[in-house]
Amino acid sequence: MSFFEATRLLAATLGAGQVRTDEASRFSASFDNTRLSFMPDAVVLPQNEADIAATLRLANAHGVPVTVRGAGSGSAGASAPLRGGWVLHLAHWTRIEINAPASMAIVQPGAITAAVDAAAAAHGLFYPPDPSSVKYCSIGGNIATNAGGLRAAKYGVCRDYVLGLEGFLPTGEFVRWGGPVRKYVSGYNIKDLWIGSEGTLGVITKAILKLVPRPQARHTFLLAFDCDEAALDAATTLLAGHSTPSVLEFLDTQTVTCAERKNGFPVFPPEALGSSATVTPSVLLVEVDGHPAVVAEETARVREWAAKCARAFLDTDDAVGAEKLWNVRRTCSQAMFQLGNAKLNEDIVVPLEGYVPLIRFTREIKARTGLATPTFGHAADGNFHIHIMYNRDDPAQCRQAEEGILLMMKKVVELGGAITGEHGIGITKSPFLRLQHTEAEVAAMLAIKHALDPNGILAPGQIFEVTNVWEHRPVQVTLPWDKH
Ligand SMILES: Cc1cc2nc3c(=O)[nH]c(=O)nc-3n(C[C@H](O)[C@H](O)[C@H](O)COP(=O)(O)OP(=O)(O)OC[C@H]3O[C@@H](n4cnc5c(N)ncnc54)[C@H](O)[C@@H]3O)c2cc1C
Repeated sequence: MSFFEATRLLAATLGAGQVRTDEASRFSASFDNTRLSFMPDAVVLPQNEADIAATLRLANAHGVPVTVRGAGSGSAGASAPLRGGWVLHLAHWTRIEINAPASMAIVQPGAITAAVDAAAAAHGLFYPPDPSSVKYCSIGGNIATNAGGLRAAKYGVCRDYVLGLEGFLPTGEFVRWGGPVRKYVSGYNIKDLWIGSEGTLGVITKAILKLVPRPQARHTFLLAFDCDEAALDAATTLLAGHSTPSVLEFLDTQTVTCAERKNGFPVFPPEALGSSATVTPSVLLVEVDGHPAVVAEETARVREWAAKCARAFLDTDDAVGAEKLWNVRRTCSQAMFQLGNAKLNEDIVVPLEGYVPLIRFTREIKARTGLATPTFGHAADGNFHIHIMYNRDDPAQCRQAEEGILLMMKKVVELGGAITGEHGIGITKSPFLRLQHTEAEVAAMLAIKHALDPNGILAPGQIFEVTNVWEHRPVQVTLPWDKH
């Protein structure tokens, strides 16, 4: 049976209103933040769990690929339906229930991450994982990518908060992994296998999330350094002193230059920088939070460290003042487009001793390719966003960007790091998977995939098959997060 006939059968089973085949619906579900577009045959909007089971059963019976979609903010192409077929759209599954005495949230996968935290806040509770896309991305997408965020070094990543999952095996059977309990070691831990599996091992329909007490106070610092190496050395000194900042963000001088140009004013007043006022600083943004007494102690410790190692620093415990200090971090990603109309945005991780070699290597790539390599990221856990800026219409620059990123990935593995720390492999990192993993490791992963998804229905082609992204021109669309 062709995909077309299978889609008609699905529409007859679920109801025509739940199976969209118009061009606009299919196009909007064809790409994520990478803008690499692969058209599905239909977009399925299930109303209940029986609809999901029926969709998966039909997909298995007729060999139709199914790609699960949350908010489509993924940055590796993982929710793009690479082989067409059906997109199972769960963005409208948004129910959130808070069990305050148990400090748990029971949420449907389409719930927006910021909405989960807002619901927790109403009870004095906190859902800490905070990807920068927190206002846009969904819990289902967060779990499927094991999303990290700015506060990960102190509070951990998405995985650390998932107590239980419900959903469907690729073959359509309902399953429950873990539950509303703090301990659970019954049988294999397939919950953790689903987390970070990028929609290839199951469809999540409900998550039970752990909540923690909401921090009552915070103190924010912005520090200027003469060069990138000085900033990174200072970050490692802070961590070595057993500080646990909730935020420790690094911005290299290329990144700060872009933000200053976009904003039209310097990050630090020139008088604060003294004799190095003509040199754009490298920056660290530090935040400590928690009980007021603990924050007071941590603030004193960070202030002492800042006075010793930074060229200058600003700090505040006031929310409005903190927002001003955050401005450079919030604007830097879009500001980079001054350096090229396209960017390769990587999310690599390196161990502590790799920070300085890594930043030096970004400059080596800049020198070798002639392309800017602005870098910022989470210095507390070594997860850096390295960018290569290029002009998409210039074939020579595309080639140089491609070469530059391959060299970068090799370097990351050589430094003992990971080619992705939060976005996942998806399509865009598929060419590098085997730099990180041996054939035996990949074979073990594929054995799991085949065991759970014998017909290869869920997200075929993702992660394991090498896709040459340079053969696919990104679509020109404005996405909700582009203005930030
Ligand atoms: C501006 C911006 C900033 C970002 N910052 C960060 C950051 O700081 N940290 C970070 O980790 N990421 C970040 N991201 C990437 C992205 O927001 C995350 O990967 C997020 O977790 C994706 O969620 P989503 O709902 O958009 O998922 P989608 O893009 O819709 O899907 C992502 C993956 O999850 C799968 N999936 C979605 N829902 C389900 C489900 N119910 N069951 C099974 N699989 C499912 C999809 O198949 C796909 O593989 C950023 C993205 C943007 C645009």
